[in-house]
Amino acid sequence: MSLFQKAAFYTTVAHLRDLPPESRREVAFAGRSNAGKSSAINVLANQTRLAFVSKTPGRTQNLNYFSLGDDRFFVDLPGYGYAKAPKDIRAQWEGLLAPYLIYRNPLVGLVLIMDSRRPLTDLDQRMIGWFSQTGKPIHILLTKADKLTRRERAETMTKVNAAFMEMKIGASVQFFSSLKREGIAEAEEKLCEWLEIANEPRAATASENSGKLEKTPTPRVARQKNRSAKGWSARAK
Ligand code: GDP
Repeated sequence: MSLFQKAAFYTTVAHLRDLPPESRREVAFAGRSNAGKSSAINVLANQTRLAFVSKTPGRTQNLNYFSLGDDRFFVDLPGYGYAKAPKDIRAQWEGLLAPYLIYRNPLVGLVLIMDSRRPLTDLDQRMIGWFSQTGKPIHILLTKADKLTRRERAETMTKVNAAFMEMKIGASVQFFSSLKREGIAEAEEKLCEWLEIANEPRAATASENSGKLEKTPTPRVARQKNRSAKGWSARAK
């Protein structure tokens, strides 16, 4: 059984003071509303309804924690981009999301979900801007890849890579399709690496294998320096 298939809802956090103790490594999933975050989480967990827990009333603006076996968490962050007024967006981002992303010690990496047809919206870029200050890694899932032709994929990958180069940010990028179950093995590999957990890969299907696409080159040296400066890997279990 692979890591994510042991996932279970743990708690929902509306205020920073309610965050769980900093004793377990965690990864966070972020993305614009409707980008396909819940579907991606459900496919990774192989559970059809898991991430919809985060979409139940009272939880949509919260950080929703799911426990994995082996003392690890993943955190489903509120989808952004559809808040009613700019004031609401500011309050949500400034009050909870930004400090969580910037200061949460056990957070070891951010999975950013972007619709492959509309990558790098303004809010995505703001999210990347905050998180990149930490020096921790970012992995991009370009979702709904089943909607792109081969040529559109190549163009999208080039565009996204170029944008990261311009922002001087190292991120790994892959295509993902919850519908076609494409890209699962590659995403799992990254998550297990971050969480320092041995992956027990499920048998990859042909479509999962075909999801293995080019990644953005990662500036490992710069990142290593940042990590030790923050001491996050020593602090997280
Ligand atoms: P969230 O708001 O980011 O959690 O997005 P959801 O996971 O709820 O998905 C939003 C919409 O996109 C739904 O209608 C999904 O059926 C659709 N969707 C999600 N993933 C995929 C995918 O891989 N391929 C296609 N074609 N549609 C998808």
